Amino acid sequence: MNKNKKIKKSLKSFKKKYNNNIKNGLKREINGWKCITIRGAPYARGYAHGQLLKTEIEEIRGMLKYSLYEDYGRPFETFIEMSNDFFKPQIKMNFPELYEEIEGIAKGSGQSADFIVMWNCFVSLDYLYASLSQVLEDRNDKALNEKYEKLLDIRIEGLKSWSYGSSQLSKISGEGGGKVMRRNNWKGADDRCSSFIAVGSYTKDGKIVCAHNTFDNFIDGQYFNIIITIVPSSGHRMMFQGAPGYIFSGTDFFTCSSGIFGTETTLGGFNAYENKDPICCRIRHAMQYGNTLDDYVSHLTKNNSGDYASTWYLGDTNTNEIMRIELGLKYAPVERTKNGYFIGFNAAYDPRIRNLESVNSGYDDIRRHQGARRVRLEQLMREHKGAIDEHVAKQIIADHYDVYLNKINLCSRTVCSHYELDDRAFMSQADRPKPYAPRGAVDGKVITSDLARELKFAGIWGSSCGTPFYKDEFCERNLQWESLKPYLHDRISQPWTTFESTVPLFHHRRQKSVRKSVRKSVRKSVRKSVRKSVRKSINEK
Ligand SMILES: [Zn+2]
Repeated sequence: MNKNKKIKKSLKSFKKKYNNNIKNGLKREINGWKCITIRGAPYARGYAHGQLLKTEIEEIRGMLKYSLYEDYGRPFETFIEMSNDFFKPQIKMNFPELYEEIEGIAKGSGQSADFIVMWNCFVSLDYLYASLSQVLEDRNDKALNEKYEKLLDIRIEGLKSWSYGSSQLSKISGEGGGKVMRRNNWKGADDRCSSFIAVGSYTKDGKIVCAHNTFDNFIDGQYFNIIITIVPSSGHRMMFQGAPGYIFSGTDFFTCSSGIFGTETTLGGFNAYENKDPICCRIRHAMQYGNTLDDYVSHLTKNNSGDYASTWYLGDTNTNEIMRIELGLKYAPVERTKNGYFIGFNAAYDPRIRNLESVNSGYDDIRRHQGARRVRLEQLMREHKGAIDEHVAKQIIADHYDVYLNKINLCSRTVCSHYELDDRAFMSQADRPKPYAPRGAVDGKVITSDLARELKFAGIWGSSCGTPFYKDEFCERNLQWESLKPYLHDRISQPWTTFESTVPLFHHRRQKSVRKSVRKSVRKSVRKSVRKSVRKSINEK
């Protein structure tokens, strides 16, 4: 087949798949995923995003109205106010391009920009809420103090000893003691996700292989079945897993045309916070403008709030090098290698982060999912040394070996996590997630250097292993979670899917419009020269 025929054929197949096209945007649904591609200037691409995922964004607003009140005992509007006071000004000031994109998403989806800001900062909300007394004290703003006295029905001078709610959705599966505890005793952040990244003698081709799964509370984790490709008017193209309305990944899993891809796992029990730039903007800026691994370090650590503190795993296909940043607040140790691996199990190796910026990390407790997966992922890296490729990575991320009970056991301790099937007979602490909590792996993703080079990665929606989740059956079996039923989605067993960049379609459109404009200008110049020669001949006469 010649080149033109090949291009035509691939464009035809793209058009067939992406049948939901609007200006600056495309959408397709496949195997439980919704894939959108948006392009252009910040507002225009945001507007396309909002239009393509309008229904989904509206549903999320309803879910948050329920879950925020249920889990903090405070109305949705309180969190909008907090976001407006503590997140929005930073985004507008330090990331005006991203704020424009947010405004576009809001307009396109018929929501307020305040809501889209809050939803993008949802992962940071818990950290801010728990540290509000400190943040207000640092601001030392009388009017702001009075506002929060009224809003939270509390006296500011008593804030230091005021009891804050614990984590979002803690009622469902939080890591903390009761619903309410003092700031000083905040149980710290939730822990989610499993991951690894390997290179050199550990992989089959010596290049980079990376895998990740998101395990989260189903009620909000179930919205991360969106694959977003952005072709921005400036900076690198990027493809990432995200939620409707998100300017960043959030889970996180992304690949960029810079040749850099990455993922993260959160640091469980992390409780240090300073109100600076939110993580949604720091990482998105890195994805769009980062050219090297060093750039990622500087974008992630600049104006670091400690919000959504995570260990980041990044691969650079240009240099065949991998990097781990344990991104605490004060401490952010970086390690890089061209021959080795890093594993992600929700605890930091750095003793300063584990002891000074976190509580209750579970680092060496194999009854906990941190300690258990730290052991199991080590075993898997050694077992598959020299053989890790896309296929093996899919197996590793779906692993069900429980190192505490020494058997295959679908439970909270395994790489493919299944809290929803775990009776929690071996809880090390009463404040750990409850028996049969609707929480666990909601996906699996794998990327290799070769896939990244073409802006591709593979994903499976539902458990990494393909075990389905049916809400009716689950709620019948576990009546304690019945009130969540209207908000939960079923996830059937799905196959793995390789996501492809849809950029050729846009290129085709651009070529078409270029050809059109060339034809137009040729016609114009022909007419002009004809007129000129006619005038000339008249004059000569
Ligand atoms: Zn599984």
